Amino acid sequence: MKWHEMEIHDVAESVNTDRDTGLSDREVHSRYGKFGYNELQEAEKTSALLLFLGQFKDFMVLVLLGATIISAFLGEYIDAVAIVAIVLMNGILGFFQERRAEKSLEALKQLSAPQVSCLREGEWIRIPSRELVPGDIIKFTAGDRIGADLRLLSVKSLEIEESALTGESVPVQKSQDPLNVKEAGLGDLTNMAFMGTLVTRGSGIGMVVATGMKTAMGQIADLLQSAEAMDTPLQKRLEQLGKILIVVALILTALVVGVGVIQGHSLYSMFLAGVSLAVAAIPEGLPAIVTVALSLGVQRMIKQKSIVRKLPAVETLGCASVICSDKTGTMTQNKMTVTDIWSGGKQWKVSRTGFDVNGEFTYKERTVVLKEEKALQQILTFGMLCNTAELTETDAEKRIDGDPTEGALLIAGMKAGMTREALSKRFTIIEEFPFDSTRKMMSVIAEDSAGKRFVVTKGAPDVLLGIAGQVLWEDRQQSMSSQYEQRIKESIESMASKALRTIAIAYKPIGRDGVFKQEDAEKDLVFVGLQGMIDPPRPEVKQAIKECRAAGIKTIMITGDHVITARAIAKQLDLLPHNGKVMDGAALNKLSSDDLEKVVEDVYVFARVSPEHKLKIVKAFQKRGHIVAMTGDGVNDAPAIKAADIGISMGITGTDVAKEASSLVLADDNFATIKSAIREGRNIYENIRKFIRYLLASNVGEILVMLFAMLLALPLPLVPIQILWVNLVTDGLPAMALGLDQPEGNLMNRKPRHPKEGVFARKLGWKVISRGFLIGAATLAAFMFIYNRDPENLAYAQTVAFSTLVMAQLIHVFDCRSEKSIFDRNPFENLYLIGAVASSILLMLVVIYYPPLQPIFKTVSIIPRDWILILGMASLPTFLLAGSLLTRKS
Ligand code: ATP
Repeated sequence: MKWHEMEIHDVAESVNTDRDTGLSDREVHSRYGKFGYNELQEAEKTSALLLFLGQFKDFMVLVLLGATIISAFLGEYIDAVAIVAIVLMNGILGFFQERRAEKSLEALKQLSAPQVSCLREGEWIRIPSRELVPGDIIKFTAGDRIGADLRLLSVKSLEIEESALTGESVPVQKSQDPLNVKEAGLGDLTNMAFMGTLVTRGSGIGMVVATGMKTAMGQIADLLQSAEAMDTPLQKRLEQLGKILIVVALILTALVVGVGVIQGHSLYSMFLAGVSLAVAAIPEGLPAIVTVALSLGVQRMIKQKSIVRKLPAVETLGCASVICSDKTGTMTQNKMTVTDIWSGGKQWKVSRTGFDVNGEFTYKERTVVLKEEKALQQILTFGMLCNTAELTETDAEKRIDGDPTEGALLIAGMKAGMTREALSKRFTIIEEFPFDSTRKMMSVIAEDSAGKRFVVTKGAPDVLLGIAGQVLWEDRQQSMSSQYEQRIKESIESMASKALRTIAIAYKPIGRDGVFKQEDAEKDLVFVGLQGMIDPPRPEVKQAIKECRAAGIKTIMITGDHVITARAIAKQLDLLPHNGKVMDGAALNKLSSDDLEKVVEDVYVFARVSPEHKLKIVKAFQKRGHIVAMTGDGVNDAPAIKAADIGISMGITGTDVAKEASSLVLADDNFATIKSAIREGRNIYENIRKFIRYLLASNVGEILVMLFAMLLALPLPLVPIQILWVNLVTDGLPAMALGLDQPEGNLMNRKPRHPKEGVFARKLGWKVISRGFLIGAATLAAFMFIYNRDPENLAYAQTVAFSTLVMAQLIHVFDCRSEKSIFDRNPFENLYLIGAVASSILLMLVVIYYPPLQPIFKTVSIIPRDWILILGMASLPTFLLAGSLLTRKS
């Protein structure tokens, strides 16, 4: 189809849709059957079977399976079956861990899937872009990614960047008129918009003509690389560590086997013991558990309204030392209400907040008669004309569709009895130059019923003051003298110092000829007046800033708003310390990057900045060695979001571009959510440290007990199947439960972690080795004591060693919950851990006391008296290390 050559009504006919109401729900459903969902086919995922088989591809596991086959040939059937069963169970556990990790990553992708505004059954609704069908009508604005191939129906200053398709990075200007171009490339089709391209300016409405694999993007989809899952720095470091640990474990195992053989053990028994030991000691499950811990943490974060888009951010969050946050909507509620209006030297107050349109206007505390206030009427009318917000009323709620700032101006006008309908009878908008945060203004060209045209501009007062040559004073146009300017500035400052966000309004009459460009419209204006609006801080932000400060994290406010407004809000939020500085965009422009770096530590508020400044601010903090979190929502925020260590975008008001650039999305746009995410980021990292500590110390203990026994020319203290059992049970559930642990109370009272901190930092290495050594020694002591008592009954001594090892590990798991001491924490806080430990103990008792299992696990029932020895030896390491801590303290 040559959509671009067709008139719009022909397009609508071809795709069988109604331009004014869109498709009906029934029609949409029947089209799913015909066209399918609007998605590009992705590369095949690993099947469940392959994932399961993947669990056994580990070299040592293969050796173990080989050894098992040999032992089966030698007639050791029970051994062989038991080993295979345990290896299988280990594989199943690994399989579920990996599946879970994969699933939650998948769910994350869904959560951050793009949404579009679509016309269905006569109403604009937001739906996932995946649910679009040909014939749908969608609207979009700057920052959106186009969800399907569209024929444009109407555009306002629309520019789209199509480099994803054409390679051309200069945005293309779009129009709605039919084209008559032969042999056109995609780049020439200016009345079409294509899936995956990016709206950089303006807005538009289009009709979907192709979805999914039928789109231009779908045609080249084979060329698209599917995004690879990213490993976090810790995962990478653990991978390297894992390789080292494999070598160390193999060397030690070889040592155990070698010494054992020299001491007279049979080669066969030592071989099987050695391979089992190697399988147990190699922490092959570590990366999977790390992923599970990360993804479980990520799920907890979702509940707290932060959506992680890039996994590495979870770790980086724990290192954040500066948060640069937008003010409007993030620190404040973005619920704006006009309270003060000023025009031509006169100032009115407006009553009632929110979407209540029954407010009154007062002058010097007296209610005014609106008819007599021409200037007031005029500024309210202009505020509604240069405005695209709509007030939607349903039974349940009133809501503003569009920019909250414009919503406030709309409500102010409605308080004076004006309505959109009445206004649209008096005026037609013939051109619109949308707001952007760099120009800090927006303009329309309107025509009244007499055919007279004029420009209305609204925007930041200081900016409009700069381009206004005249002023409306006592209903007359006067040229802008320095006195008038002074009076206006005083009014701006007086409103701003009350924390009001101020919008200035200006206008100018124009002729009817020719096209009017934005540059021509936005100059030589007549200054009409100011509307000041409150935007109260979010109540929880003050506390969040305080907590961040205690956690060694500095909060910086970045805003396009006026310096004085920004300062007033910063004061309300307790963000600005006594010696803290406020810097504005103009001052920022004058500073070189090096100069900014010198002073940046003292600045807490950046006001009247453009999105472009954000990058400079991020870099300055980074050069000072900070790990920077930066929020943003607009198209122009993307570079700063990308450059920041943690790029954060807004779930509600954020554009697709900002979301794509970010690694964290705030579902509720709230600053306090960043704090919760940082806390969770720190917690996840600490939990990973906890189970690394637990797993490695357990493994060291297992190897050492065997090594010591061989060196002392003792029999094997543990048989292979017991070693494998310990590996399966104690390393499985308890380690996972540690990953779900609650944070230690003081998590947000510490300084941020250094990003280069190694896995074994903060004495973790020492803790692993010392504890591993003690677990090994205690187990061996219990074994030797029983063996010396009754050398004839080796199986009994081995069962005691087995129980001591298991119990020592299960006690150690509680030690791992605290950086300081086991006695610092209430063990019943983490019920998962209690459950995991209880079930491990139960499984151990079953293996020891259940007669049918005894021959398999080579165990014997232990008499109750010996449990005193077992528990005593198992808890000895905890008491010894706690004791050594105490003596060091005193
Ligand atoms: P933040 O960066 O914290 O979100 P902000 O929302 O105040 O701050 P901008 O949206 O860049 O920053 O707004 C900058 C200034 O532009 C505002 O102070 C206001 O004076 C003016 N302004 C904001 N929205 C509009 C709009 N829709 N039309 C005209 N002017 C606007």
